[in-house]
Amino acid sequence: MNPLPPSRSWQRAGVGLLAIAIVGGAVFFARSSRERSLSADAPATTPAAPATTTPAIKAPPTANHHEAMWYQKLPDGRVQCQLCPHGCRLGEGQIGICRVRQNIGGTLYAIAYGRVAAAHVDPVEKKPFYHVLPGSRAFSLATPGCNLRCLFCQNWEIAQSYPWQVTTRTLSPADVVAAALQSGAQSIAFTYSEPTIFYEYMLDIAKLAQAQGLKTLVVSAGYINPEPLRALLPHIDAYKIDFKGFDPAFYTDLTGGTRDPVLETMKTIHQSGVWLEVVNLLVTGKNDSENDVRQLARWVCDTLGPDVPLHFSRFYPMHKLANLPPTPIETVLRARQIALEEGLHYVYTGNIRSAAGDSTRSPVTGDIVIERKGYHVIHNHLVDGLAPNGEPIPGVWK
Ligand code: SF4
Repeated sequence: MNPLPPSRSWQRAGVGLLAIAIVGGAVFFARSSRERSLSADAPATTPAAPATTTPAIKAPPTANHHEAMWYQKLPDGRVQCQLCPHGCRLGEGQIGICRVRQNIGGTLYAIAYGRVAAAHVDPVEKKPFYHVLPGSRAFSLATPGCNLRCLFCQNWEIAQSYPWQVTTRTLSPADVVAAALQSGAQSIAFTYSEPTIFYEYMLDIAKLAQAQGLKTLVVSAGYINPEPLRALLPHIDAYKIDFKGFDPAFYTDLTGGTRDPVLETMKTIHQSGVWLEVVNLLVTGKNDSENDVRQLARWVCDTLGPDVPLHFSRFYPMHKLANLPPTPIETVLRARQIALEEGLHYVYTGNIRSAAGDSTRSPVTGDIVIERKGYHVIHNHLVDGLAPNGEPIPGVWK
């Protein structure tokens, strides 16, 4: 998951009225005190264990009534959501595992529609996208909620919250696009929490954004059903999948989801022609074995092809795994080496400083074509996607 910038401290600060301001190219929402839950039986904190297939809780209707897409009305008044593999069946008043889709009177509503919990202008490299408009800025936003329960969640304050548990600002899709254009960003990134669960809002923004010449970027764990994914893809320019780990038990034990739907999502995106990059956060001692890394790299190379970029990212102690040490730097560097051995052309490292893992090299000559230091592009030698020797480097370059 793409971590929030340090200014997310507003989420804990508990002072000030909600305000939006563009300051030095970044958009911040000042945070008011954490709102009281509207429901006596709503849990005040994130559940201790990963989600099961049991849909969540009862809660009263909210003011944000935007009918959801991708659901079915059942004869007994319940609804079945078909957006993600959880397939929640929800009785009157119940909210899905994602915390943002609620059955009200036999209709499923997307109750986080337009409720923005975080917005910032980030380097596109921070998403991370390394083959999309290098050196540009992405207007990045999120609503609360997520359909996974990763114990190592990097943005748990908003991802593991109901809409009434965090301060949000109501922004229409037109407001978001106007703010993005005003900020000078070249793209809008749906990120920080899980864009799948604010599908309708993302789709409406993406349509407007592309009409205004902005690129649209999704940063997601990919836990979405194929049909809604296919309907979304024509409006998206690039997709980044946070793949959790190749061992199916890692998914079931640490994320509250399952692995295979995510593999399907990556195949569907790749087959659609939408640009795809894959990130694997290496959680210390959990998914960072040589076997796990090699299997993932081999699957990406064999199934998606050697030109799909794969990023290995260092884990820092967080959320319910705060007791673990950070991933050793050598483990991240070794993962990159394994993926190169498996035949991938573009393998990067994240959350560490590594000259080798930061920059893009020609797979033919080994020469640097985009030199980076962290999130900063130092030199970009590409012209219209071509390296100086005329070799095409795949990506979204204009
Ligand atoms: S999107 Fe939410 S409500 Fe729908 S199936 Fe997934 S977790 Fe359940």
